[in-house]
Amino acid sequence: MDKIDELIKMIKDSKRIVFFGGAGVSTESGLKDFRSKDGLYNEKYDYPPEEILSHTFFINNTSEFYKFYKDKLNSLNYKPNITHKVLKKMEDSGKLTAVITQNIDGFDKEAGVKNVIELHGTVRENYCMKCHKFYDAEYIFNSEGIPKCTCGGVIKPNVVLYEEGLDQDNTSNAIKEISNADMLIIGGTSLTVYPAAAYVNYFSGKYLVVINRDKISCGADLEINDSIGKVFEEIDNKLYK
Ligand SMILES: [Zn+2]
Repeated sequence: MDKIDELIKMIKDSKRIVFFGGAGVSTESGLKDFRSKDGLYNEKYDYPPEEILSHTFFINNTSEFYKFYKDKLNSLNYKPNITHKVLKKMEDSGKLTAVITQNIDGFDKEAGVKNVIELHGTVRENYCMKCHKFYDAEYIFNSEGIPKCTCGGVIKPNVVLYEEGLDQDNTSNAIKEISNADMLIIGGTSLTVYPAAAYVNYFSGKYLVVINRDKISCGADLEINDSIGKVFEEIDNKLYK
C-alpha cells in the first residue's frame, strides 16, 4: 500500500491523535531552523546563537540579545502553512486532541488550533520582569532597542532560553496528551532535541507515525521521509476536500 494511503487509513481508524511538531514544520513557513546546517547557527554573529539565546546572555547583554532576537525570530513576517491549517481541520473534525510543538513562532494558534502546548514558549507572549504586565509580539518586534514596560521594567519573551527549564504544566500536559493518544504523529523533528525523544516513550497507542525529511528510525509503525507540508497537503486532499 502507498504510504499516504496507509497514513490516511490510520487517521480514519484513530480518535485521539496528537501531533508533535519540530522545526521542520516552521521552516516550511519560511522561518529558518535553529539547528539545521543552513540554519541560524551557521550564520556569522559576534556570539554563537546558542550563547545569545541563553538566560545568562539575556540578563547580561540584553541589548545584543534583542538585536538578534528581533532580527532572526520575528515570525510576524511569516504565516502559518498547510500543515498548521490541516491540523486545525483535524481538531475541528474531533480527531486531533492536541498539538505539542517545540516551535516558538505561534503559528498553530494563529491557524486556529485550540489545544496547543508550546513546550519552548512563544514569541507571542511577553512579560515585564518587574510587574508582569503582558505585551504582544508586535510591541516587542516594533520596539526600538530593549523593549520596556510602562513601569520601566525590561520585557522578557515567554520563550524558554538555554539554561532555563521547561514549564512544568506544559510538560505534564504534553505527557498526559501523549499517554492518552491512540495515534502520535511526529513531524519535522529528528527527535534529537530534548525532550522530544523522551516523550515518545509515553506513547502506548496504536499508531506511531514519523514524517521527516531525514530518516530517524525510532521504531515507528510508519515513517515517511518527505516534506511535512507535502504530506499534509495529501491529507487535506484525501480527507477534507
Ligand atoms: Zn512593568
